[in-house]
Amino acid sequence: MQYFDHNATYPLSIAARDAWLEAAERFAANPSSPHRWGARADRALTEARERVATWLGCPAHAMVWTSGATEANNAWVAHWARHTRGAVLVSGLEHPSVRVPAVRWLAERCEPVPVSSRGVVCAEAVAERLRRGGVGAVVLMAANNETGVIQPWMRVREVCHEAGVPFACDASQWVGKLPASGLGSCDFVSACAHKFGGPVGVGFLKVPESFEPLLLGGPHEEGRRAGTENVAGVLAMVAALAQRQQALESGVDVWESRCRSRDAWIARLEAAIPGVEVLGRESDRLWNTVSVLMPPASDCRRRWVVRLDRLGFAVSTGSACSSGKEVPSPVLASMGYPAEASDRMIRVSAGWETSADEWEALLQAFIQVAGEFGLR
Ligand code: PLP
Repeated sequence: MQYFDHNATYPLSIAARDAWLEAAERFAANPSSPHRWGARADRALTEARERVATWLGCPAHAMVWTSGATEANNAWVAHWARHTRGAVLVSGLEHPSVRVPAVRWLAERCEPVPVSSRGVVCAEAVAERLRRGGVGAVVLMAANNETGVIQPWMRVREVCHEAGVPFACDASQWVGKLPASGLGSCDFVSACAHKFGGPVGVGFLKVPESFEPLLLGGPHEEGRRAGTENVAGVLAMVAALAQRQQALESGVDVWESRCRSRDAWIARLEAAIPGVEVLGRESDRLWNTVSVLMPPASDCRRRWVVRLDRLGFAVSTGSACSSGKEVPSPVLASMGYPAEASDRMIRVSAGWETSADEWEALLQAFIQVAGEFGLR
């Protein structure tokens, strides 16, 4: 199987697996326990916290370990429900783990922000909305999981700080693909290990001093997240991220060269299958992600996925399909696409290890399926 679904889950890296196995043996005790073994596990967590905080550029005590990004996102939405007043700006691009709790807990305070047809939140519209006043908080993801489109989170963070309004960034698809530096100056940051080669079920949340926890019932994480820490999971996550950060810090060409290869691949796909539309084509996008709308009447996305699967390629539909029913993508809807477009969306997301040969084989598989659907 050639795997092109890294935005859903990135396979466990060797570094993470080795770190997990070692940590599960060396740090088997509960980090809150009063004995030496507990203290040793706690020290390992402290060192891990310092490393992640250094990559993000924030104090170590601001970092909280979580079970992943869904928990982290729920935690800051719940905090805002209790500690902010006024509108909370949430775009339709956000992941359901932001949008759904925001609608549930903030209700009519939840206010949409404009998204362009290129898949980008308009930072100047956010700035203008802040100038009008009455905004309690703003959220913006760093990069979109469905399209890979990079969002202007640095600019939005800046205007929020000028206005004295808290800002949260869901960086789940950014961390491990682009350098983490600078994320630490957002008030809240969430990310999860399984998007960059760490294990599923572990992530982190950067919080301000004022943070009120979502999970209660224990003194863990200095009272900011109850529940025994997943020491092996955290150490495996940090091992995976260390590897990514090292590559990313070696220079921009690490990802820019991949963007060039991605664009050359897209040009060949477009030439081979007339009518293919690349989502966010004119926007900056993650080097690993290509999301396309297949030509109309070219059969639904599920059949594309099944056909590609049979040929040995794992790709995704980009957003949820539940019990065989297609759910229109709120991401596409906020970019102005009709509900029908969701049924034609295919997302290809590569990993650091994906080779040029694998990309070439995927292109040939697309061409073969297009032929089977009578598109060529
Ligand atoms: N946020 C974004 C942007 C994501 O892509 C995902 C996972 O798909 C999540 C949050 C949720 O992450 P987790 O699986 O760790 O709960």
